[in-house]
Order: sequence, then C-alpha cells, then structure tokens
Amino acid sequence: MKAYDLVIIGTGMGGGALSYALRDSGRKILLLERGDYLPSEPENWSPEAVFAQTRYKPKEQWFDENGQPFFPGVHYFVGGNTKVYGAALPRLRKEDFSSIEHEEGLSPAWPVTYDEFEPYYCRAEQMLSVHGEAGIDPTEPPRSAPFPYPAVPHERYIEDLKTRLELQSLHPYFLPLGIDLRPGGRCIRCKTCDGFPCKVHAKSEADVSCVRPALESGNVELMTRGFARRLITDGSGKKITEIEIARDGETLRVSDRHLNEALTELLVAGGPLTKSLLGVAKDASGNGALGSVALSRSTCRSHVRCSGKGRSHVRAADLRMVC
Ligand SMILES: Cc1cc2nc3c(=O)[nH]c(=O)nc-3n(C[C@H](O)[C@H](O)[C@H](O)COP(=O)(O)OP(=O)(O)OC[C@H]3O[C@@H](n4cnc5c(N)ncnc54)[C@H](O)[C@@H]3O)c2cc1C
Ligand code: SF4
Repeated sequence: MKAYDLVIIGTGMGGGALSYALRDSGRKILLLERGDYLPSEPENWSPEAVFAQTRYKPKEQWFDENGQPFFPGVHYFVGGNTKVYGAALPRLRKEDFSSIEHEEGLSPAWPVTYDEFEPYYCRAEQMLSVHGEAGIDPTEPPRSAPFPYPAVPHERYIEDLKTRLELQSLHPYFLPLGIDLRPGGRCIRCKTCDGFPCKVHAKSEADVSCVRPALESGNVELMTRGFARRLITDGSGKKITEIEIARDGETLRVSDRHLNEALTELLVAGGPLTKSLLGVAKDASGNGALGSVALSRSTCRSHVRCSGKGRSHVRAADLRMVC
C-alpha cells in the first residue's frame, strides 16, 4: 500500500489550486482524479460535439429531491468543470462575506472577511493570468494590486453597446478574464470559449494553470482514473486512515505515511460529489461518523451568471461585460 502525507481528491479549481499552493510545502501529496486528461482534438470547438452529443459529459443520470432524473453538468477530467468554464474571474464583493438576507433566506457570514481574503485574490489572479481593469465598476471591492494584465478589448459591437449603456448612466466594465492574451500568448480568440474546452490550452483553468505546474515540483503525484470509493476511518470515526480507490477494474488503497497518525485528506470533488463521498466514510465498525459530522458542515454552492455573453458573428471571448 502506498502512503502519503496528504491526499487531495479532485482536480477542479479547488483541488488544482490547493496542489499548486502546496507544491513546495515538502509534503508528499497524492492528487486523485476519477477522470483522465481531456484530449485536445477538433471536437473541442464543435458545438455539435460539445452540446448536441455531450461528448465531454459522463453518461450518467442523477436524481433530484423528488426522485426526478436529470443529466448533471459535471465533467470528470483533470481540471474538472474548469475545462469548460468561461474563465470569468470577478472577485466577490466586500459585503458578500457578511451575513446577507436574500429572497430565499439568509446567507450566513463567512468566517473570514474580504480584507483577510484580499491578498489571496491577488495571488489567484497572478496564478490565473487575469485580464481586467480596475476603477470602473462602482461596486468593486478594494484591491492591493492591479490586475496582472490589461482588460480584453471589446469588439466593435460591444463597444457600441457599452456606449449606449453609459448614456443610460450605467457603468459597464470589463469582465475579468483568465485567458492567455499576453503578448505572444496562446489565445487565438476562437469562436468558442465558455462551455467548450480550449484546444490550444489558452484558458486559465485548473489543469493547465494549477495541476501541470504542481506536478513539475516533483512533490505532487497525480493518479488519473482513480475513483475514491470509500474513506476508511479509525475506531474513533474521526480520522481517515485509508482511502479505497477503484482504478481500471482493480481496488487499491492508500494510507498515511507516518504510522499512528491520521491521513490528511482533502475533499474537493465538487459540491454534490463531496457530499456523496462523505456519506460513505466508514469507521472500523462500519459507522459513518465522519460522514455525518462533515456533512452537517458542508454546503452546496453554485454561481450566478451575471455576464453578458453571446453566440453570434462576434467572437464569444469579446462578449463579456457586467453592467
Ligand atoms: C459551463 C460552465 C461554465 C462555468 N463558467 C465559470 C466562470 O466563467 N467563472 C467561474 O468562476 N466559474 C465558472 N464555472 C464554475 C466552475 O467551473 C466551478 O465552480 C469549479 O470548477 C468548481 O471547482 P471544484 O474543484 O469545486 O469542483 P469541480 O470542478 O467539479 O472538480 C471536481 C473534480 O473532482 C473529481 N471527482 C469527483 N468525485 C471524485 C471521486 N470520488 N474520486 C476522484 N475524483 C473525483 C471530478 O472528476 C472533478 O475533476 C463554470 C462551470 C461550468 C460547467
Ligand atoms: S477564446 Fe481563447 S481561451 Fe477561449 S477557447 Fe478560444 S483560444 Fe481558448
């Protein structure tokens, strides 16, 4: 059985960024991913293949709370859902960190403030080569460093729309974007982006911007096609000591490198999948104690789309603007 200091389950933005941040920590880290690398191929940019044939989605159905089946918007690849994300990377607003009353209930305060978080936003924007322009949006939170790269310029149609919005006293601003439009960068401003994988690896997603650089450190080992099937705890039910992995028809186990200590294991498998995995954590006597403790603390999150995007003769990468 192989042993590690830390196992990170999932290589989406959560697991990818974590492995990147810890790549030089001296820990022996296993990065576990149920999927494989997403291939660079002509279908990456084919609306027919991506949307009609759902080429990059798993052939599985989930069920909602009423037992109704649906096809989940998940992507099991190195990079997770960021392989197809829109790379729109705005910061949360300062007030988002405090308790806010919404139509559907109270959003509780975060345990950290925006000011505590701010330096990490700067680091993330560097890591993801974010293009943007500060000082236009009146709701923008304070920042201690400028955007790493200038905003992605608007196309003529969007420039015109922006002018018309400004005439109505609105404040359109450039949506911060993580695409490689640096001088000599890889982005060719193709006709796709949000919803599609980037064939030329120019999107700042978790695979390209986090996992691959983390692997270069030599401290992080990636296991693809490794499905974390069960988290096994000690007798107290509070410490994970082993992880059972299903891989290519075989069952493997990984454990803690230092005997008698708990394996540090981080679940960043995406909201619902993390819950599902915690639900199958078992202690030596078969109880799911860890699962129930952790489940009560875990929350599902989704993001609200507020960017103006389009699919017309104008290139998609230019059609991003928040008003
Ligand atoms: C079409 C689309 C557009 C989006 N656009 C934007 C955008 O513009 N800006 C933005 O900020 N966000 C965007 N998002 C959302 C963003 O992609 C997600 O918020 C982000 O990917 C979540 O990261 P995560 O690490 O939590 O989970 P995921 O990205 O879901 O990654 C989870 C990973 O864990 C793996 N995994 C799951 N279970 C197991 C298991 N048991 N064992 C091993 N591996 C496992 C999965 O295969 C996956 O790789 C978009 C999402 C989609 C689908
Ligand atoms: S617009 Fe640029 S980053 Fe987006 S998919 Fe096309 S080439 Fe890649």
